[in-house]
Amino acid sequence: MLADCRRILAFTGAGISTESGIPDFRGPDGVWTRVDPEEFTYSRYLENPETRRASWRMRGDSRILDAEPNRAHLALVDLWNADRMVACITQNIDGLHQRAGLPQDAVIELHGNAHHTVCVGCGERQDTVAVLARVSAGEADPACHDCGGILKAAVVFFGEAMPRRDLMRAAMAASEADAVLAVGSTLSVFPAASFPIEVVEAGNPMVIVNRGPTELDDLATVIVTGAAGAVLPDLIGKLLG
Ligand code: NAD
Repeated sequence: MLADCRRILAFTGAGISTESGIPDFRGPDGVWTRVDPEEFTYSRYLENPETRRASWRMRGDSRILDAEPNRAHLALVDLWNADRMVACITQNIDGLHQRAGLPQDAVIELHGNAHHTVCVGCGERQDTVAVLARVSAGEADPACHDCGGILKAAVVFFGEAMPRRDLMRAAMAASEADAVLAVGSTLSVFPAASFPIEVVEAGNPMVIVNRGPTELDDLATVIVTGAAGAVLPDLIGKLLG
């Protein structure tokens, strides 16, 4: 079915990175089984220093910044290098697609990237590791060195607007795609999940690779149930072989 497709849109979610040691949100060991998402909205973050302190503590404990890409991320790089992929839209904030070898301009990070931190006051950007070093040294809620403003990881919080430029890039990629390969996502977070829907509504096939059911299973042409790190190298290897 994908043999003749030249502009496959990869659409990835937290499930592609669980084999790199980063828990997903809604799987059985997901983050939401331990943390209440209502505590971490954008407005709470801005208003409440305790929310910020808790957020930096969690970020310091998270494995995201040290994680390594797995076989599923590497298989998507093979697809890109074979000139068969239009773009990779990801909901992930771990930067593992680029670390695996996808060029930055092939990746559309709809929910941001945890490796970067931004000042909500002056917009200054810096590496999150530098901010976490200040947290470890005792600054529980570090402020911007330049303007004193609130620092926030460059990820989209609940209730925060999504980056306009990335939404436009994603819409463009979806309109150019001739198939969508959705990997490790419940396809339940909007507007992200609207992009695979657009590809299907234009008459193209959707292949879903996931460990469990998704919200868009009814729209899929084929569903492959399994671990992304096992399925993708096999599937993409056959496609390119
Ligand atoms: P989700 O947690 O809603 O769903 C993940 C899906 O992947 C689940 O159905 C799960 O069963 C499946 N899965 C888990 N491991 C898998 C594997 N090895 N192979 C195949 N499938 C596997 O994730 P989502 O749809 O991406 O939505 C979650 C939101 O959480 C996103 O908005 C994202 O920004 C954020 N998030 C990101 C990360 C990350 O950057 N790695 C981690 C957690 C959450």
